[in-house]
Amino acid sequence: MEYDVEPQEDGAAIREEIRSFLSSAPRPDGLRNYGPTPTDDDIPAGRTWHRYLADHGYACLHWPARHGGQDASVLRQAIFAEECARAGVPRQLVMTAIDLVGPILIHFGSDLQQRRYLEPIRLGEDVWTQLFSEPGAGSDLAGVRTRAERTPTGWLVNGQKLWSSAANSARYGLLLARTGTDTHRGLSMFVVPMATPGVTVRPVMQIDGESKFNEVFLDDIQLDHDALIGEAGQGWQLAMFTLGRERLTLGSQAVAMFKLHARMAQAARDRDLLDPVLARSLTRLWARMWLLRATWQRAVAHGDMASPAFSVLKLMTSETDRDLSDLATEVLGTDACANSDDNEFVHSMLVARAQTILGGTSEIQRNVLAERVLGLPKEPR
Ligand SMILES: Cc1cc2nc3c(=O)[nH]c(=O)nc-3n(C[C@H](O)[C@H](O)[C@H](O)COP(=O)(O)OP(=O)(O)OC[C@H]3O[C@@H](n4cnc5c(N)ncnc54)[C@H](O)[C@@H]3O)c2cc1C
Repeated sequence: MEYDVEPQEDGAAIREEIRSFLSSAPRPDGLRNYGPTPTDDDIPAGRTWHRYLADHGYACLHWPARHGGQDASVLRQAIFAEECARAGVPRQLVMTAIDLVGPILIHFGSDLQQRRYLEPIRLGEDVWTQLFSEPGAGSDLAGVRTRAERTPTGWLVNGQKLWSSAANSARYGLLLARTGTDTHRGLSMFVVPMATPGVTVRPVMQIDGESKFNEVFLDDIQLDHDALIGEAGQGWQLAMFTLGRERLTLGSQAVAMFKLHARMAQAARDRDLLDPVLARSLTRLWARMWLLRATWQRAVAHGDMASPAFSVLKLMTSETDRDLSDLATEVLGTDACANSDDNEFVHSMLVARAQTILGGTSEIQRNVLAERVLGLPKEPR
């Protein structure tokens, strides 16, 4: 069987080492597990925390050693993400910088770009935002309409981006823009200093009351020649290069799910609500969570981020998470809103909506699985 692969490393020893490091690491005031993206208020504590991780060899684990990383295996990266979730701390200042920008610059950036941007990312100094999605280009990312035109001094950019996480706090943006007419080969990738005249950032209020997303308007912004990453027309290849890295953090979602399930069962017991119908729903979810956990362990042991198991996991984890938090709020009813101790359930129910959208919606994941893994006919386009 393809996935019956024993890990080459001792997972228990790695876990022990990381758990012990995290339990003795000093927590800066105000640090919370904000996930992949900090709010503006999270940044001071997130930055101090990231610096501590970097100073102790726990930042940018997947980067090559020559750029200050650890060349860490998928198993080690996954255990680190999971143990951070268990300890209630973020694993970085902002995920876009270490998981998206870093690997792209390491593989495609010029020497100048690598020298200028990589070390501040590794040390948690600069916040980056991903400027890919637009009002008319999300699932169909190749529909990007923001244009970059060559000028004698570099590039002139016009367009609008949407859902740009942390753009309001970011020093730089990683921009996907159209430089030609061909759907895929007409796209290029740029670094945008967010302080460039003509860049306007408008935060978007989310359903959970936080504001991590933004609209970004790019009006006649001028970029130097060296803002281009790789070659003109290589943008699609670069955009696809790190796609799916967020799947590594799926195991950490499972940690949160098990905690939520235990709290929900206790809340139902305390209110004397555990009838056979609810007990069955709780047991079904619990079984799904264990199946996910086993699939996750197999995928991680296999050590290949391109494995179809990760695509199945993205779909199943986000939908299980959604069903779990929906059930939690149903069980608690109005208590979930009225009782501040139970606000966690409401928050998790609202945030779960995003999980089935980010990094490829559930519908798109099903298409990908059908076409690329099962070899079924392609959807009509
Ligand atoms: C938490 C979060 C963080 C994000 N951060 C960023 C960021 O930092 N930078 C960035 O650029 N973007 C970011 N995004 C945007 C994200 O990539 C898009 O929301 C996602 O790709 C979906 O695109 P869309 O919102 O335009 O929806 P659409 O693509 O318009 O889809 C709308 C609906 O139609 C369905 N649909 C679309 N096409 C098909 C199809 N072919 N077959 C079947 N159904 C289909 C979708 O599944 C969905 O239900 C973030 C999103 C979230 C939720």
